[in-house]
Amino acid sequence: MKRKQFDDFYFIKDGKIHTLDEVQEHYEKNNGDISYYKGDMRCPECKEARLAFTHKTSKNREYLSKEPTSNHLDNCSYNYDYATKKQIIEYVKTINEDQIQDKLKSALNMLMNRDTSTDININSQEQRDNPLIIKSSNVGNSIQRTIQRKSLSMWLDKEYEGKVFIFYGKVKLKVEPFKEFFRLLIYTKRKDKTWGYKTKVFRGRFKDKIDENKEYDIAILGSLDFSYGSTPEIKLVKYNSLLYR
Ligand SMILES: [Zn+2]
Repeated sequence: MKRKQFDDFYFIKDGKIHTLDEVQEHYEKNNGDISYYKGDMRCPECKEARLAFTHKTSKNREYLSKEPTSNHLDNCSYNYDYATKKQIIEYVKTINEDQIQDKLKSALNMLMNRDTSTDININSQEQRDNPLIIKSSNVGNSIQRTIQRKSLSMWLDKEYEGKVFIFYGKVKLKVEPFKEFFRLLIYTKRKDKTWGYKTKVFRGRFKDKIDENKEYDIAILGSLDFSYGSTPEIKLVKYNSLLYR
């Protein structure tokens, strides 16, 4: 299995979540010297496992991965294999509409409000209820799998096509009418602080009430669909598997 990669990390020095592209930028500006970060980058979820940076090459994007000798806390979702699309679709069938929204709400709390906490231990309540871990069945046995996360400020690459993620991030939104239907357009903040179009979600006949000037936190359970060109759309796993606030 391919090693798990991290879009962001917990930085010991300031107790905040930082992004991968920040390290790449620092690497380029300082001729490959990332001693400022080295040893102080931790798993964004459990804040325990140490992460190592691998810089960008002509062939590959930069990435963060766990140092082999370092471990996640017990209930960190990074401990488990990623759920397949089939496993997630099966799981979603077993929960009702309210439960999907609850799941997204907990996921959003975990993914977006992390930088306020300097406590490096996940408390036991959270341990039992990690919103990214789902139960799946394998020949009658119950197994745990993790729903893979993807920050909306990262590249949405063709290689992710067809896989299901929880997409999350700080966004601006806009409703686009399309015949008798609606699409939700999603914008993310670029490096130069302007907002750029990122992707969209088909909403059927549901028209979202959006304040276009407002910044929203969003979580979407869905997969990338490239059938309309090189800029992907997100296809929802279920019509209500999207939450913003
Ligand atoms: Zn972890």
